[in-house]
Amino acid sequence: MKNRRKKQRLTLLVLRDAQQSVKQIHLSKPLMIAVPAAAILSISSLIVSLHIQSARTISQLEQQLTLKSLESMKMEVMVTDKEEAIERLNQAIMKLSEEATQTKTQMKKMKELELELQQFIKKHSSSGQETSSLSLDGSPQVGGEYIAVHENEMLHLAEETRDDFEAIQELIKTMESHIPETLHQAAETQTKREGKPALWPTRSKQLTSSFGYRSDPFNGRSAYHAGIDIAGERGDPVFAAGSGTVTTAARSGVRGNYIIIRHPNGLETWYMHLDSLGVQVGEQVKQGEVIGKMGTTGRSTGPHLHFQVVKNNRTVNPLPYIQ
Ligand SMILES: [Zn+2]
Repeated sequence: MKNRRKKQRLTLLVLRDAQQSVKQIHLSKPLMIAVPAAAILSISSLIVSLHIQSARTISQLEQQLTLKSLESMKMEVMVTDKEEAIERLNQAIMKLSEEATQTKTQMKKMKELELELQQFIKKHSSSGQETSSLSLDGSPQVGGEYIAVHENEMLHLAEETRDDFEAIQELIKTMESHIPETLHQAAETQTKREGKPALWPTRSKQLTSSFGYRSDPFNGRSAYHAGIDIAGERGDPVFAAGSGTVTTAARSGVRGNYIIIRHPNGLETWYMHLDSLGVQVGEQVKQGEVIGKMGTTGRSTGPHLHFQVVKNNRTVNPLPYIQ
């Protein structure tokens, strides 16, 4: 057994081309072990190196992939950023547009209010002056420096413009609340002005008897005349000397058909000897409104208007008021 093992040899036959001879390689026992071992070693080292190489390649590939995906992610982020910016810009512009519409409506309202105020002033002012209209129109009379706007400034610009719009809206809101108040005040002032009996109450200006002491037209005796007499035709219109409230519209034996109008500041105007009454007690009358017709009712010698002014329950000379 020992000998046989000693004699053990490995013969390798190397076959090449058909023309060439077959080579025999005799291998001793140690070689018999060494060669497969070397083969295994070299194969395993090859496998290891292959592993290493492939791992490296995979790692490189992975790295590349990571880079690529990072880049693509970056790209995506950039795209998202841009989309977001565009979206924000769009929203800003949309809000601006909404505000512009609102402002337009408010400006229209303002214009209407202003027109109302102007009509009021025009109607009541004696000078007939017109104030210049406040308006926001598309007239070409505009100017200013041209400043180019870059894309990245758009958002900022939109936000700034929106702030401006908000400020304008605040201003308009304030004005909106002020104008009706001004109108109200103007109306009150006008009422007071119109309430002052300042209008001559007839078309005729023929004064037949003045205020104060005179000789009585019926008995010739000295008497106090509490107003003025204005002669005219029977049926001539009699006007309210000032705006006010009718407190009396009645008939009396002495005064005939008569009217008393109460005005602001403790003033009253009395109209006597009317042919007919055109107003009723409690009625609001405007200055210049026809309140009755001239006549000769009561203690009268002919068609005339007895007109008197009472201030704080005392008769006063009417002429300073209506002249
Ligand atoms: Zn009289």
